[in-house]
Amino acid sequence: MEDMTQVSKTNCTKEMTFLWEISNALAPLHSYDEESQALVLKLKEIFQKYLSINNFQIFIRDEMTSTLRDFVKSWIIIEKNQQQELVENIFEKLKSVFDKGFIINNKLLKYNTKLDLKKQFFESLNKEKNLLYFPVFNEKKLIGVIEINFDTVSKDVQNSLFLNALRIAISQISTVVVNKILNRHLCANIKFQQVMKSIAKLIETQYELEYILPIIGELIDRFVSEHLIYIFTKQENGKYKLFWPLDCQDENVLRLLSKMTNSKSHIVSKDGKTGLFAIRNEERTVGVIAASSNIDKLSKADIDYLCQLSAQASITTQRANAYAQVLKYATLDALTGLNNRRQFEIRLKQEFANAKRNKKPLCCIMLDIDYFKKVNDTWGHAAGDCVLKNVAKIVAHELREYDIASRYGGEEFCILLPDTKIREAAFVAQRLRSAVEKADINISEDKVLGVDSLKVTISVGVSEFEKKFSTPEKLYQNADAALYEAKKRGRNRVVVYDESFE
Ligand code: GH3
Ligand code: MG
Ligand code: MG
Repeated sequence: MEDMTQVSKTNCTKEMTFLWEISNALAPLHSYDEESQALVLKLKEIFQKYLSINNFQIFIRDEMTSTLRDFVKSWIIIEKNQQQELVENIFEKLKSVFDKGFIINNKLLKYNTKLDLKKQFFESLNKEKNLLYFPVFNEKKLIGVIEINFDTVSKDVQNSLFLNALRIAISQISTVVVNKILNRHLCANIKFQQVMKSIAKLIETQYELEYILPIIGELIDRFVSEHLIYIFTKQENGKYKLFWPLDCQDENVLRLLSKMTNSKSHIVSKDGKTGLFAIRNEERTVGVIAASSNIDKLSKADIDYLCQLSAQASITTQRANAYAQVLKYATLDALTGLNNRRQFEIRLKQEFANAKRNKKPLCCIMLDIDYFKKVNDTWGHAAGDCVLKNVAKIVAHELREYDIASRYGGEEFCILLPDTKIREAAFVAQRLRSAVEKADINISEDKVLGVDSLKVTISVGVSEFEKKFSTPEKLYQNADAALYEAKKRGRNRVVVYDESFE
C-alpha cells in the first residue's frame, strides 16, 4: 500500500493524489461509531494537506427528532446555539440543489450553472475564514451536510481541476456516510430483535422472577450502551425497591420513581436524560426499568426501544408468575426432572418423622456447582441450563432408588439418604463429586456455541440426623453449613458437618 501511494504521488497531479487519499480512507466500510470517528479524523487530515483546515464536520439529520447531529457522536444533540442555527439554515438552503451544488461563504453555487463556476468559487473565497457546505443525499432526500471550515487555499490548487476533485471526493464521502448510517440502523435493529427474542425465550426454562429480572437487566444494559439500566420491583407498600444491580446512587432515578404511578407506561425526566418504563402485570405496575445518564439524552428511538423491551419484559414476567403458580402444585422441577423444593420440604418432614419414630439413621447431602455464574457468563444461560440438567442426571444416576434427590434452588441440589449412616453418606458424596469432576458435560444442545462439552465441579456438604434436632430444617441447615465450609476450603470437595462450623 505504502509503495503504491509513493508511485502515485510521483506520477500524478495534486488533485489526483488528493482523490487517491480520500478513496483510500473510505475504502474499508466500517460499521461502528469509533470507526466513524477514525474516518472523520482521517478525512480531516487529508483535507488539511490541501487546505488549511480549522474544522471538518459531518452533520446528519436525526429522523426521530428532526435535529442535526454530529455524525461521529450521533447520540449528542448539537446544543441550540449559533452553530446549530447556522447549520440548520444551510440545511434548508441545500434542500433544493440535489447533489448539484454547494455553499461557499453563504453563497449557493450550482455545478450546472452557465457561469464560470471556478471563477465564482475562487472569487467567493475570503482571505481568512472560509465556510464550505456540501449536501449529503440519500436517494433524493437531503439527510445531512458536510462542513469544511478553512483559512486559505494554497495557490497550486486554485484551479478548476481541484474543484472537480473536491466534487468527486464529496460524493464518495456522502455515499460512505449514507452506507454507514443505514448499517448503524440495521445493526441496532438486529440487536434489538435479538434482545426481544432472548427476553421472550427466558420463559421457556425459567419461572423465578429473582432469576429472570437480573437477566433482563443485563440484556437491556448491553443493548442500551449510553445509559445505565436499573430494575426496581414494587413492594406491597407501594414503594419501589432496587432489584438489579446491587446499587443505585442515581438521584434522578430515585426522584423520578415517586412519579411512576399505575397509569403511566413510561416517564422521561425534564432534561431527557432519565427514563422510567413500567413492567406491568395486567393493570398493575409491578416493576420499573430505569435508564439514566448524566450526559446523554434518551433519543426518541431509545425511548421507543425501551417501551417495547419493557412490554416484552412484562409479558415474560406475567407468564413467569402464572407458571410459578402452576408449578407450586407440581412436584417435579421442570428443568431437571428432580423433585422440586416444595416436594423436598414435604419429603424432609416425612423422613424426619420416620427416622425419629423408627430410630433409623438419616443423612442429608447438599451440593452446589462451583463457579456456576462463570458458566452462564461465558457460555450463556442456555448452556448453563444444559449443565444443570446434566449434573442432575449424574446425581440421579449415582444414587439408590430410595434416595430422594431435589433441586433446592438455582444450582443447588439436596439429597435425603434414608437409612444411611454418616460414613456411607460421606462416601456417596465423594462418589458424586468425583463423577461430576470426571464427566464431560454435554452442552451441544445449544448449537451456536461451537463447543460440545465442558467441565464443572461441585462442592458438597453432608450432615446426619440427630435425636436432639427440634425441627427437620436443622438437618439441611447443617448440610448447608458444611457446604459453605467446603466452598471456603477451596471447592471441589466434600465436607462433613461438624459443630465447630457454627
Ligand atoms: P460458587 O462456587 O461460590 O458457588 O460460585 P457460583 O458462581 O456458582 O455461585 P453463585 O451462587 O454466585 O451463582 C449462582 C448462579 O447460578 C447465579 C445464577 O445466575 C445462576 N442460576 C441460578 N438458577 C439458574 C438456572 O436455572 N439456570 C441457569 N442457567 N443459571 C442459573
Ligand atoms: Mg455455585
Ligand atoms: Mg449457589
